[in-house]
Amino acid sequence: MDAQREQCARCLKAVPPYSGVHQSDGKGNDLGFVCGRCWTEILSKHSGEHLDFLELEPVVVSDARGAEHEFHFRYNPIPCGVQAFELEDGVPGGYQFAVLAEDDESSDAMVARLMTKMRRGLKRRHVESGGIHDKTVRGRIEWDEEQGGRIPRVVVDGISLSWDDLGEMLMSFEGWQFRLEIADPADEV
Ligand SMILES: [Zn+2]
Repeated sequence: MDAQREQCARCLKAVPPYSGVHQSDGKGNDLGFVCGRCWTEILSKHSGEHLDFLELEPVVVSDARGAEHEFHFRYNPIPCGVQAFELEDGVPGGYQFAVLAEDDESSDAMVARLMTKMRRGLKRRHVESGGIHDKTVRGRIEWDEEQGGRIPRVVVDGISLSWDDLGEMLMSFEGWQFRLEIADPADEV
């Protein structure tokens, strides 16, 4: 089987690992991998309410420089939301965006809101010629394998930077103040 695909234990379909989940018995035991569609059906049965499954094809969005970025999607039935991400070596990386469904929002409206968020995100530039372009930096905190997770890496403008890289950029603002705010992946920043 393709190394970048995992087989669903329920319907036996091979899907990218990011589109499914590893079921757990709540005691730390892995009960096997299931695809997103099966996971939604399992949750529907457990919750007693019908949950729709949303399967979205990849889309290409251009950034401020005109470079194209291919986004893949992952739908979460509970809490209902969609994530969009680029792939790096087959796993989610680069730009990532997420939305959670608002009350009574249709899935079309939720996806449209995510697309708007993606386009807006890609038009923004925070880092230019190795320095901070304006005075705001938006990004995502990630695990740094090289540092054993001791300090983070950050993804800014879809590009992974070490904590040192970010620190060097901040040195052009020596003596200035800053405000650091942490936000949920689905929040607006
Ligand atoms: Zn399945």
